[in-house]
Amino acid sequence: MPRNKLCSSIATIILAACVGTAITTPAVFAQIPLPTASAEDRALAKAIFKELIEINTTDTPLGNVTAATTAMQKRFLDAGFPAEDVHLLGPDARKMNLVVRFRAAGKPAEKPVVFLCHMDVVEALRADWSTDPFQFVEKDGYYYGRGTQDMKDSDAALVATFLRLHREGYKPKRDLILALTADEEGGKFNGADWLVKEHRELVDAAFVINPDSGGVELDHGRAVVADVEATEKVYSDYQVTAANRGGHSSIPRPDNAIYELTTALSKLAAYSFPFEMNEVTRTYFKNLAGQETGDTAADIQAILSTPPDLAAAARLSASEPSFNSNFRTTCVATRLLAGHANNALPQTAQANVNCRIFPGHSPEEIRQQLIGIFGDDKLTVKHVSDAGVVSDTAPDRKAMVPPAPINEVFEPLTRLTQAIWPGTPVTPVMENGASDSIYFALAGIPCYGYSAIALERDDDRAHGQDERLPVDSYWKSLDFFYSFAKALGGE
Ligand SMILES: [Zn+2]
Repeated sequence: MPRNKLCSSIATIILAACVGTAITTPAVFAQIPLPTASAEDRALAKAIFKELIEINTTDTPLGNVTAATTAMQKRFLDAGFPAEDVHLLGPDARKMNLVVRFRAAGKPAEKPVVFLCHMDVVEALRADWSTDPFQFVEKDGYYYGRGTQDMKDSDAALVATFLRLHREGYKPKRDLILALTADEEGGKFNGADWLVKEHRELVDAAFVINPDSGGVELDHGRAVVADVEATEKVYSDYQVTAANRGGHSSIPRPDNAIYELTTALSKLAAYSFPFEMNEVTRTYFKNLAGQETGDTAADIQAILSTPPDLAAAARLSASEPSFNSNFRTTCVATRLLAGHANNALPQTAQANVNCRIFPGHSPEEIRQQLIGIFGDDKLTVKHVSDAGVVSDTAPDRKAMVPPAPINEVFEPLTRLTQAIWPGTPVTPVMENGASDSIYFALAGIPCYGYSAIALERDDDRAHGQDERLPVDSYWKSLDFFYSFAKALGGE
């Protein structure tokens, strides 16, 4: 959830203080081993994972989210969930969302909890992968396939958890809701947005747990830190265009749309937005410093000093791209389109520049900065909305204030995390990406991003080639969500 730069709000201070307490005194939680899933529970969780990976849910002609949500609907109905608690609905036939309500026994003691899981995945091309991205392949201790990290792992773990709790006759004290949604990654029918706006009664909640972010960072197998998303950067696309009268390519001139565009992009490549910190990232790096050793620990201490040591920030950025993203707004060229014939001077050259804006800056502010970086008034820089609408200016929308951490979330989250990964501190983080939490946050429902998935820091393959998940991480997240859902629902 994006938020304002003015983060010295009481909420933020409580966040840092509350979570900070848990971090500095991990021993407060006795490490009682969690109940682990039986072989049968694992087999079912794996079958669901495989089924979801093998249904293409990309926003392409081959993709169909409804195929996946319908398959899960069948599982819930077959398991005996009442039909009135299993809702398949949406604004488009291929983008139907599934909302499942695990009803409280008797009058609910509290407002419901929503587990928010997007079902769509980013396109994957067979030619780019060593396995078929839409086949669930188990190899060398990993599950491979599109969505194994983002986020069919958590979709499947939550479906399996709800089914298991139901089978065991679990009686929650409040409703637990699982929302499996469309178009988080792109597309015109964002399910989280649509459900909050059109069917608030189905997804209204005390808070949302969104496993699309957060999780345990591993360094050579060692759990370093468990991240809970407390704020997130703002996503914004820009269309940069160079136009030219064109002409015959046998008579080139110095003015050339492709050269003008690529010159501008080269300036962007060389540019680094200013280093920034807010209360969430400061708390994150403070906690990380205690876990790191050697030069990395020293450099992290140096960026925490006042004023921050920018040389240390540069070294950290160079060593770890995700640190760089956490330090500043980033903008990167992601697509190019230019020219119309091999033997003609290009009449247009166009690039998409994708920015991830540090909380506190608006998309319009960044658009103005891009114009300044390019320094060429012949170029136009327009904003592209999530729905693909191009406009001359960008929104002035400010990021969201992060919610205060509530004990009923952070206490079990920390306790269960430490039962699985002993001694691992839990810290709030600013997510470099963006998630559907924004829609619930805008509706005033606090959101916490946590996947309970443990991944090596250098093995983040979400949206990339050969996406994979360690088998062991899947089992651990399954155990986590089983106990977490029970803790939130009331034992
Ligand atoms: Zn995702």
